[in-house]
Amino acid sequence: MQPDTAKIEALTREMLLALGEDPDREGLKGTPRRVAEAMSFLTSGYRADPVKLINGAIFTQETNSMVIVKNIELYSLCEHHMLPFFGRCHIGYIPSGRVFGLSKLARLVDMHARKLQLQERLTEQISKSVMDAIDATGVGVMIEARHLCMMMRGVEKQNSVMVTSSVLGTFRDSVATREEFLSLIGNRAT
Ligand SMILES: [Zn+2]
Repeated sequence: MQPDTAKIEALTREMLLALGEDPDREGLKGTPRRVAEAMSFLTSGYRADPVKLINGAIFTQETNSMVIVKNIELYSLCEHHMLPFFGRCHIGYIPSGRVFGLSKLARLVDMHARKLQLQERLTEQISKSVMDAIDATGVGVMIEARHLCMMMRGVEKQNSVMVTSSVLGTFRDSVATREEFLSLIGNRAT
């Protein structure tokens, strides 16, 4: 479903009024339209097709060594406050004959991040997508992120980082594999 941008514009204008603002003053005139455009973009993951996104960027490669992609930038919106959380995503997988083109993992992260999310669910959706797309032997995903809903409201320590991980297949079953993943992505959560 395409977002109803006209309605989001009208509602944003209403919200400005409800906050005691004047939506007709110069600085706010274009704000409802900009908010509608921004929200449509930031939730475009609902309308993305993962098969199309990944298509053509999976390559045959006879390897079963662990592949690691570190420090993928991540920007998402928490579903509780619709405020940003942002950080880095680290992905490791053991292929079973097929590997990802490098940029596609970042696109996959973007796709799942552009929805209203919980960090835990986002982590799981990414690991499951990687697993399914290439029928990997195992997948590990770790996300470290800061949440503006906590930082801006002063609810938590301002520098706290939330760390979530999701492991599937051999990453779940084998302690050695999990430890290899953790040591390859380095000492995180700093
Ligand atoms: Zn929140």
